[in-house]
Amino acid sequence: MTLLLYDDIYLEHDTGIGHPENSRRIENTINYLKSGSFFNQLTIKKPRAASQEEINLIHPKAYIQTVKQIADSGGGWLDGDTVISGASYNAAVYSAGAALTAADMIMTGAAKNAFCLVRPPGHHATPERGMGFCLFNNVAIAARYIQKNHKRKRVLIIDWDVHHGNGTQDAFYEDPTVMYFSMHRHPFYPGTGAQDEIGEGEGKGYTINIPLSMDTKPEKYLEIFSEVIDSRVNSFAPEFIILSSGFDTYKKDPIGGLNLEIEHFHALTKIVMKSAEKHSDGMLLSCLEGGYHLADIPRCIEAHLKGLMKMDF
Ligand SMILES: [Zn+2]
Repeated sequence: MTLLLYDDIYLEHDTGIGHPENSRRIENTINYLKSGSFFNQLTIKKPRAASQEEINLIHPKAYIQTVKQIADSGGGWLDGDTVISGASYNAAVYSAGAALTAADMIMTGAAKNAFCLVRPPGHHATPERGMGFCLFNNVAIAARYIQKNHKRKRVLIIDWDVHHGNGTQDAFYEDPTVMYFSMHRHPFYPGTGAQDEIGEGEGKGYTINIPLSMDTKPEKYLEIFSEVIDSRVNSFAPEFIILSSGFDTYKKDPIGGLNLEIEHFHALTKIVMKSAEKHSDGMLLSCLEGGYHLADIPRCIEAHLKGLMKMDF
């Protein structure tokens, strides 16, 4: 059974007209999904809020307070492209909370896998500060939560967003218990994610970066993705897999683009599912990151969901 975590609260995170990370991304998606014949085969779940203590698994209390205070004062900017509106703290708390709600349901057997249709996204948020449209690092908080509350030791985070998830990398760079694997366009925002960034100290070898040039063909992308999972990920033997699912690798994405067609998100999902079935009894938690093509992101997400549901696309 596949869960879909969603709440209208995410639409209230107001980034302003013209911002690529705007509410229409997921408003279009939820409306499109509701009109589809497979929607009633999904289990729709409203998320709970993440507590400050749970967000503090990754972010220092001072930073959490900064985000809250900016929101409470009516809003402001964290950096040149990361905006906080009056409702953004609340949306961010429920965005992180969706991953925790899904993790609990998966770990108790109420669902096999889940997709969190959330915003703000999270993978650029470092422990110390938000950036790149991200306030709290949803997948990083979920990884620590699963280790702490569900006693899973080795957690794998796969990040197929077109951008390098510098925040997630930072959170676990010296940690051998959380493997971070990212494929991304490079050189590109945020500038990190070179192949020689492999972790430090005890975490050395547990960060895997595959930078790709912008003309990489989809067949090559899938081949490399599959190879890394078959070799490096298999030897890690993750007990739980989390996916940072960005859809800005889609060829028409207005700010990203890495030549993938819509159906490739179905193929990628199948590869990840196979790994989850091998290592973690099929358990998989997917969280939305980027993806900015307003007309087509609903279909990219449909392709991903149908992969999670083991349906053809
Ligand atoms: Zn992105």
